[in-house]
Amino acid sequence: MDQEETRPKVFIVDDETVSIDVLATLLRPDYRVVSAKSGEAALARLDSHALPDLILLDVVMPGMNGYQVCEQLKNSVRTRDIPVIFITSSIAEEDETQGFSVGAVDYIGKPFRPAIVLARVRTHVELKKRGDMLERLAILDGLTSIPNRRRFDQFMEYEWSRSLRYAHPFSLLLMDIDFFKLYNDHYGHAQGDACLRLVAEAISRSMPRTVDLAARYGGEEFACVLPATHEAGATAVAERILQAVRGLQIPHAHSKVADHVTVSIGVASMVPTLQRQPLDLITRADQALYKAKRSGRNRLASLDYDGAA
Ligand SMILES: [Mg+2]
Repeated sequence: MDQEETRPKVFIVDDETVSIDVLATLLRPDYRVVSAKSGEAALARLDSHALPDLILLDVVMPGMNGYQVCEQLKNSVRTRDIPVIFITSSIAEEDETQGFSVGAVDYIGKPFRPAIVLARVRTHVELKKRGDMLERLAILDGLTSIPNRRRFDQFMEYEWSRSLRYAHPFSLLLMDIDFFKLYNDHYGHAQGDACLRLVAEAISRSMPRTVDLAARYGGEEFACVLPATHEAGATAVAERILQAVRGLQIPHAHSKVADHVTVSIGVASMVPTLQRQPLDLITRADQALYKAKRSGRNRLASLDYDGAA
């Protein structure tokens, strides 16, 4: 939103108000600053608030000390990637070793030297941002900027086991752009790429729930993973996607089913059991997609339901 919201967030944890004040005054021009006065309060805050980009953590505090807090942070999937810089007044060598062994990235000594504090904070916030970007790139499809096959596989595994635990229904859509090879042959690959981007965007737009995932599954194939969704809900999403892609009105002179780009969608749902694998759901969706194509394309199908175009 405004500039305020985009600045990196630094979380200061120190039992001394004076320390917090000095650091906050230093950092406030460039960072959003939040603080806590104990390890326990810090962990509670992290549990219930948006995560910071960096934590400045005092080593010596009553109750939980900095090492204990850091260990907890590194043990949780949610918080383990947040860089932690220890604040300490005695930089004895064994202290440093212990700090690094529990996962800290750096130290800042008391009394604070402003230039050092700012340099260390800037360095580690930058590294964190770069790491986040690389992580994002590794799971996004380079062409369409939606999640890639690798992310799809991870997400399927994770959501499948969650659905298994809660006995929730689980749905999957597999879809193909109709006659895409003919499209590429006629319009050329650059235009083909542009078409893939537009279709990917239309698919993503048709799935407003943040718990769902739309991914590029292969060349002109896309997949939508819909956790905790019955077949009726999945069919509704598939219908929205059909409409959204038709609505793009991308001319396709060589399509045999329309004068514009369309998709065929296979819908599959099942309740995960110990005897079933994610692959079973993928196979089912693939069979449904085949059925949609065989029945004329530009439509959705499931194995027990025939959706008309
Ligand atoms: Mg202290």
